[in-house]
Amino acid sequence: METAEIRRRWLSYFGSHGHTIVPSAPLVHDDPNLLFVNAGMVPFKPYFLGQETPQFTRATSVQKCVRTLDIEEVGKTTRHGTFFQMNGNFSFGDYFKEGAIQLAWELITRSQSEGGLGFDEKDLYASVYHEDDEAIALWKKVAGLSDDRIVRLGRKDNYWNMGVAGPGGPCSEILLDRGPQYGADGDWEAGDRYLEFWNLVFMQYELENVRSKEDFDIVGDLPKRNIDTGMGLERVAFLLQGVDNIYETDEVFPVIAAAEDLTGRRYGAAHEDDVRFRVVADHVRSSLMLIGDGVTPGNEGRGYVLRRLLRRAVRSMRLLGVDAPTLEQLLPVSMERMKASYPELETDFSRISQVAYAEEEAFRRTLSSGTTILDTAVARAKSSGSSTLGGAEAFALHDTYGFPIDLTLEMAAEQGLQVDEPGFRRLMGEQRDRAKADARSKKSAHGDTSVYRQLSDTLGHDVEFTGYDQTLTDTRIR
Ligand code: ATP
Ligand code: MG
Ligand code: MG
Ligand code: MG
Repeated sequence: METAEIRRRWLSYFGSHGHTIVPSAPLVHDDPNLLFVNAGMVPFKPYFLGQETPQFTRATSVQKCVRTLDIEEVGKTTRHGTFFQMNGNFSFGDYFKEGAIQLAWELITRSQSEGGLGFDEKDLYASVYHEDDEAIALWKKVAGLSDDRIVRLGRKDNYWNMGVAGPGGPCSEILLDRGPQYGADGDWEAGDRYLEFWNLVFMQYELENVRSKEDFDIVGDLPKRNIDTGMGLERVAFLLQGVDNIYETDEVFPVIAAAEDLTGRRYGAAHEDDVRFRVVADHVRSSLMLIGDGVTPGNEGRGYVLRRLLRRAVRSMRLLGVDAPTLEQLLPVSMERMKASYPELETDFSRISQVAYAEEEAFRRTLSSGTTILDTAVARAKSSGSSTLGGAEAFALHDTYGFPIDLTLEMAAEQGLQVDEPGFRRLMGEQRDRAKADARSKKSAHGDTSVYRQLSDTLGHDVEFTGYDQTLTDTRIR
């Protein structure tokens, strides 16, 4: 079943169960605590927090997500993408645990010919928060799960909170047993054999003193109990498509196939190469989606994440043996796969691709000058019997050649060296202090005033910023 079909079934199923279908929010959302939307519930946060009242009590969406936290996992596990889509169903004071479990169980076990996802009941497990007797009883009652199919886990895995005081509650996840070739019986932690694909969060308590994900006080019941669920679309796609991981699904694999053609290497022949192929396919897609939502490469924040993704894709292609630019061959393949669900990617493709290709070009220049310097430094360290690349070298690479530290770390590690990171950070700090002192001495520490200079150049007269004491509508350029 194609990814787009799973997505259609999802929306139509929850739509026909009284849920309002809400389009995905852009990856960049108005939330000061987040670089990118990383879960389906993010756009609904004001409703869960009681700050706003929704027009509906049930909603469903397929939300674009980016999790930078998972970047190191990409290609190494079967299940982590930097970009992925989270199918969600939400209840705002409407159905609660029983309704959520019932809706989920019906969708995943109903046969495909009847509009369901057709998972085999005998492969399914549920994890629950170990004190949530109510959920345990419901899994038995609604789904007929026996005790050995219900796994009790602690707060680390099965309790949800926002990292601050507010709503929280236990969760319950649905796992699919992929069979003994993927791990030992009962090995819930590794995550490969018992693949987590759907998380049901039961928001029911008021939390205070939230010191960490696991350390908080439950101080009472919420006035309204809510449901927030998230199912990984790519995870379900790979399970239903009979492939081994999310990178081999219909929306992602064509980029691997294109990379095989470009490199002349075969996916599946060598583990290290396979990881690189997957990184390429994943990062090309994430970059496409991020640029599509207005992110441009830069040196900090969101722009830096995009830069890092693009550069890791380019570098992985180099490690696969291709030095020539390749994004021009890879990015359109990803767009072709994604446009069914996101048609704006096609209409906006000339802008998107220009941003990506320009970054590739800039990085190629950086790489060719920096790599020589790095190789020399590595050779020098090795010949002096050291297994560490000095902080000063790492700093010079950063300062002069624009080598981000993570790239230096990766490239040094490939040659069996560590990097004196504390030394690097110290030098970075010293440079920052110098820059600050410099800015103070020029009395320009209030920020960038070049925009006013440009305006006054264009207008031919002085420009005064009046925004401190006037509102937008009565601010005039004088
Ligand atoms: P994992 O333990 O595998 O890292 P998670 O517990 O961090 O997953 P949740 O925060 O519960 O994931 O997100 C809800 C669902 O979203 C998951 O059950 C999974 O199906 C999907 N998901 C989470 N992270 C990713 C990712 N990086 N790539 C693809 N799908 C993901
Ligand atoms: Mg995770
Ligand atoms: Mg998990
Ligand atoms: Mg989870």
